Amino acid sequence: MADCIFCKIAAGEIASHTVYEDALFRVIMDLNPASPGHMLILPKAHYQDFFELPNEVASAAMLLAKRLALAAKKALPMDGLNIVQNNGKAAGQSVMHYHLHVVPRYQGVAFKLGEGSATQQELAEQAECIRAALEEAER
Ligand code: AMP
Ligand code: ZN
Repeated sequence: MADCIFCKIAAGEIASHTVYEDALFRVIMDLNPASPGHMLILPKAHYQDFFELPNEVASAAMLLAKRLALAAKKALPMDGLNIVQNNGKAAGQSVMHYHLHVVPRYQGVAFKLGEGSATQQELAEQAECIRAALEEAER
């Protein structure tokens, strides 16, 4: 969809710290991570939210979240994980292209979506670590 930033990122037209890509999805590091390792699963096709998501894309997104969760657990010193997905402004959705948040958590560290920060280098390193763990697990 024209003027949708996540369509452009998913298509590779705007650079991102990509962890994983296939025909249906691109997985990127969140630019304002709620915690180290915060990823976003973006469908390549534009769906505004969960209500619009075809069943097969919803299923595939959740299965991919599980693979990423296991890879992140190997790659990062995390203690827990949140899977979060906001639908509509009232629910805190700020980018109107469906995305699934995969958020590693650390004991005693609070988080709030959209309020974190990280350097480009940190994001690149985290993407690389998770990508390597995913490839290792699935080799
Ligand atoms: P939501 O509030 O569920 O719509 O989440 C939007 C998320 O996208 C927030 O966590 C933002 O930090 C993140 N975000 C916004 N723009 C970008 C971008 N260009 N690249 C990576 N993450 C982004
Ligand atoms: Zn879009």
